[in-house]
Amino acid sequence: MSAPVDLVFAAPRRGKPPRHLADLSSDERREALVALGEPAYRARQLSTHYFGRYLDDTAEMTDLPQASRDRIGDGLFPPLLTPVRTLTADGGATVKTVWRLFDGALVESVLMRYPGRVTMCVSSQAGCGMACPFCATGQAGLTRNLSAAEIVGQVVAGSRLLASGEVAGGPGRISNVVFMGMGEPLANYRTVISAVRRLTDPVPDGLGMSQRGVTVSTVGLVPRIRQLTEEGLSVTLALSLHAPDDELRDELVPVNTRWKVAEVLDAAWAYAEQTKRRVSIEYALIRDINDQAWRADLLGEKLAGHLVHVNLIPLNPTPGSKWTASRPEDEREFVRRLEAHGVPVTVRDTRGQEIDGACGQLAAKEA
Ligand code: SF4
Repeated sequence: MSAPVDLVFAAPRRGKPPRHLADLSSDERREALVALGEPAYRARQLSTHYFGRYLDDTAEMTDLPQASRDRIGDGLFPPLLTPVRTLTADGGATVKTVWRLFDGALVESVLMRYPGRVTMCVSSQAGCGMACPFCATGQAGLTRNLSAAEIVGQVVAGSRLLASGEVAGGPGRISNVVFMGMGEPLANYRTVISAVRRLTDPVPDGLGMSQRGVTVSTVGLVPRIRQLTEEGLSVTLALSLHAPDDELRDELVPVNTRWKVAEVLDAAWAYAEQTKRRVSIEYALIRDINDQAWRADLLGEKLAGHLVHVNLIPLNPTPGSKWTASRPEDEREFVRRLEAHGVPVTVRDTRGQEIDGACGQLAAKEA
């Protein structure tokens, strides 16, 4: 298969989403308020409403003068995410939402409550240009990059839902954000970094989450992994490896034809070295494709001795696809062999299977 390398850094082709408060740093918010004819101190007031109370309707911001509400609403709180469909699973502890963006593009987010933590999985692009053949999103190609506010807005919407007590388990807060929805986060690098800062800056500048609670995934854009290493953040890097050998990885993750397994692992180890954070290796187990015992051994050899953790993901097959989940005995043997190499491994809890767990699947259906 030929690599979609020309798409790796492709600029979005559609129009830009309107500017939103969450696109701006705190200095930029003050400047924007002044430009709207408002006092600069309103930036803090609005940020507290948005990041502290999850409000985005200025009609509910009762401390704003009536005359300012429409102006500020139009200038800084344009509607960016409209829910098209919401599905729940796992007894109401998993909530998946398909959002329509201002230009009609569809993305999705998933909120997952576990004992002791709540994880929000967000999309960073509408569609994806990486063309992984086992992934529904990859089949449709890239529509455009999301803006920082479109990314942060998914988390704010999840926070609002959770705070309202509508998610099984009662009111709570999001503790983890994983960039594992639609898209290749590092192909939308600057925006994703801005979004991470909005998520982790203290309230009211941002949502006040811990950087350690944020995971940024990548299929292996080596220059961007190296850039992230220098960013001074302590987010977890998740590398979607899916194969330990170039021959198979060239097929499963076409960007591998540009950056090979050895090169991408080198970049990952440099990230671990710099941040002291364990790199998460994502490996979708696909029956008779990448789940052979010899591949488990090869993976174990390549990872042994590094600051690493392997997440094995039982593949949730997309409709009409030839790719399917491994047999239970092959999965067990894969785990056993990795452990024999001293590599820590877990099999991911496949949340939301009954509502189309594979990334991008639900939005693909809506489209
Ligand atoms: S698996 Fe991830 S990187 Fe690959 S095409 Fe799908 S969304 Fe893109």
